[in-house]
Amino acid sequence: MKKLYQPVTAAVLNELVALVGAENLSTSETDRGQRAFDVSSHAPHLSEVVVWPQTAAQIAAVLKYANEQLIPVTAWGAGTSVEGNPIPLFGGILLSTEKMPHTIQIHADDLQVTVEAGKKYKDLNQELEPLGLFFPPDPGGDATIGGMLANNAAGPKAVKYGACKDNVLRCQVALADGRLIQVGSRSIKQSSGYDLLHLFVGSEGTLGVITEATLKLLPLPKFASAVVASFDSVDAAVQAVVKIKSSGLDPAALEFIDAQTIDLINQVGGLSLDQNHTLFMEFHATHEATLQLGLEKVKGICTDLGAQTFTATTDPAERKQLWFGRHHAYDYAQQWYADKKLLTLDAAIPISHYPEIVTQIEQGLVKHQVSGHMLGHAGDGNMHVLLPYDDSNYDRAVAFHRELIERALELGGTATGEHGVGIGKIGYMRQEHGPALDVMRSIKETLDPNYILNPGKIFP
Ligand SMILES: Cc1cc2nc3c(=O)[nH]c(=O)nc-3n(C[C@H](O)[C@H](O)[C@H](O)COP(=O)(O)OP(=O)(O)OC[C@H]3O[C@@H](n4cnc5c(N)ncnc54)[C@H](O)[C@@H]3O)c2cc1C
Repeated sequence: MKKLYQPVTAAVLNELVALVGAENLSTSETDRGQRAFDVSSHAPHLSEVVVWPQTAAQIAAVLKYANEQLIPVTAWGAGTSVEGNPIPLFGGILLSTEKMPHTIQIHADDLQVTVEAGKKYKDLNQELEPLGLFFPPDPGGDATIGGMLANNAAGPKAVKYGACKDNVLRCQVALADGRLIQVGSRSIKQSSGYDLLHLFVGSEGTLGVITEATLKLLPLPKFASAVVASFDSVDAAVQAVVKIKSSGLDPAALEFIDAQTIDLINQVGGLSLDQNHTLFMEFHATHEATLQLGLEKVKGICTDLGAQTFTATTDPAERKQLWFGRHHAYDYAQQWYADKKLLTLDAAIPISHYPEIVTQIEQGLVKHQVSGHMLGHAGDGNMHVLLPYDDSNYDRAVAFHRELIERALELGGTATGEHGVGIGKIGYMRQEHGPALDVMRSIKETLDPNYILNPGKIFP
């Protein structure tokens, strides 16, 4: 990796002002400080300058200039990553898409929308609601489409609707040398040449900067239900996950939270959820009768496995209320452990191994004498464990985390189901990908030979 990056001097700033305008650039400590960290516990790092391009052409021009000058450029959406992904480890230019939040065109008849990279997905879904449409991926943070695509984010609804990679058709991307390219097309079927679109999805801003994207949309579900079921054993809850998945019920969300985390949610959020191991579920259907039949089947599965409570509702306000605790779990954990840092497991495995990985987590927590909160997107085999740590238990928390990831890899899974590599999972890249990591490096060196794009990420 080239390390001879050049500093952002007064001459560089003058050139950047010429490219984006003085009002779209800042060297203030406040602006740089607000974009020096994400929501993870990874140490912050300041960029030397923040730029807010307003067009794809400006992004391309900044990259071309930075590449010529050997100045690092880290793209920034909203900084809601949980693995240090947008932290500008080598300083340089922080290229924010905050001033590119526009919807370019809604193609309602095609169930598609084209947006600028800085569009927040929550704003997009508000805009689409009156049209009866939505964009399914829903990571909990207030994230941008550019950041979501770059991380291949997912969220609770991925179990039915897939991750970002499954919901994008084309992107416009600015390359390090200043070229602006189109990858993918607006056709649902695409078999023309290499699939460059999916090369950029999940590349965490290390291969190019996404300037706009055309996304797939779906009609809003006509009928939806929320279900919360609690169990007095982890095993029963997890067996229910596997049974529901294999029953053909096709949940739109299927989340598992252990009793200890429910306790935390109750205490911080002032809620009164049954303090047991709990499944949060959502089901979507086009006919009410289908939904009701499905709910009966879910209830049967949960009851057979000894569910302590089973609450289901189709009322929109009650649905929101039922899911409130799950939606705020991460924020509550951060509040509860304000004096500690959080290490987050994001391993994902084939669903049939879910009970085994949960058992391993329980045993590992005891073995390494660490406490951890399990909250998983169980329906798609993705498990999060939040591990609060400080100097006193750091080594033990890391040992637990490593052991679990290694087991997930042995089971045919991945170190990171949806958060991306960032800083936190970089140490597992060789183990997970073997020689394929060298192929990734060749691709990196073709597209970004000077390693100016988000340096310090993906490659150990
Ligand atoms: C409370 C909470 C809950 C969360 N739950 C989930 C969850 O369930 N599932 C999930 O997947 N994630 C979850 N996340 C994580 C987070 O929301 C996602 O990782 C999201 O994709 C980050 O988007 P962002 O716009 O904040 O991007 P940033 O964090 O700003 O950047 C993300 C990465 O993309 C790069 N990047 C940003 N914009 C571009 C661009 N235009 N072109 C190229 N690269 C770019 C950055 O350099 C960085 O590497 C959660 C976060 C929070 C705070």
